[in-house]
Amino acid sequence: MRDIIIIGSGPAGFTAAIYAARAELKPLLIASSVEIGGELMNTTEVENFPGFPEAIMGPDLMTKMQQQAERFGTEIVYDDVVELELDGPVKRVRLGNGGVEEAKAIIYATGSAYRKLGLPEEEPLSGHGLSWCATCDGFFFRQKTIAVVGGGDSAMEEATFLTRFADKVYVIHRRDELKASKIMQQRAHDNEKIEFIWNAEVTAIHGGDQVNGVSLRDTVTGEVRGLDLDGLFVAIGNDPRTHLVHGKLELTAEGTIRVDGRSSRTSVPGVFAAGDVIDPFYRQAVTAAGSGTVAALDAEHYLAALEDTNSPAEAELEAEELDELAAINN
Ligand code: NDP
Repeated sequence: MRDIIIIGSGPAGFTAAIYAARAELKPLLIASSVEIGGELMNTTEVENFPGFPEAIMGPDLMTKMQQQAERFGTEIVYDDVVELELDGPVKRVRLGNGGVEEAKAIIYATGSAYRKLGLPEEEPLSGHGLSWCATCDGFFFRQKTIAVVGGGDSAMEEATFLTRFADKVYVIHRRDELKASKIMQQRAHDNEKIEFIWNAEVTAIHGGDQVNGVSLRDTVTGEVRGLDLDGLFVAIGNDPRTHLVHGKLELTAEGTIRVDGRSSRTSVPGVFAAGDVIDPFYRQAVTAAGSGTVAALDAEHYLAALEDTNSPAEAELEAEELDELAAINN
């Protein structure tokens, strides 16, 4: 049995792996069968990760994190987790290939996924004029007319960014007031290529091979009208990827995994969570990396206490007391 398995290959997972590997815990990191590296693989330049004054491409940053984790002995499995057994002293992770890995501790860092509108056309039109990532796909909409759905900071950021390419960017919002921060709102309002469509809900996306318009329902009058478009970007938030732990770990009202204070301790001893799965608010690469550090240190304390007590619950209590003592001494 291993000491520790880390699930997830974004900044939280890799940072946890770097710390756990340097603590000689020989972590196994389960990446994904599809794409290793998390959401940063879909971004271009990352300008706000400290240490890269000239910016770094998202995929390059993730490759560096992976190399750093492997350099200290992290083993990586390129597969999906299909089931978890988290209760008791032995945690079991069932993989897509049918194999089962066992460990004394788990760090769960599976990130978050873009929220969907819930329309049947989303699946077939995805990548055909319908996108969730302006930095990935904005380039394809030079001199086009497009729309962004949403009223938060993401929608404002995406809309503003997309004006670099498109001639016209509508922002479609379901209310008459934005949720975005004042500065992001102001930036969008000041941009003459952006036009707001208030109190509107997208009820259908049109297009055979390529998006060519949407139907909008007025949320006040109920009236439905069409809007011709070359592309549609959806920026209505993210949902933490917690489906594997539903009914196994306590969640918060926001749907993130509940942790104990500023720690990464979940409701089950020996299971730690990090990154976007515990964070509905900040969701930055650097905060996820910090959160991965916390999880690795918590897991390390837990494993040390487990050696003494041989009981997950007692080990958690002992590790918790040690952490509190350390906080008081600092
Ligand atoms: P938010 O949850 O803040 O906003 C989501 C927006 O989408 C809301 O306006 C919401 O409407 C709307 N929405 C939600 N579901 C639907 C739906 N089904 N149909 C239509 N509209 C919908 O998510 P964001 O991704 O914008 O931001 C998440 C966090 O990340 C925030 O804390 C934000 O501040 C932060 N962030 C910061 C950035 C920055 O500072 N540069 C950039 C991007 C994000 P309603 O308002 O009616 O609820």
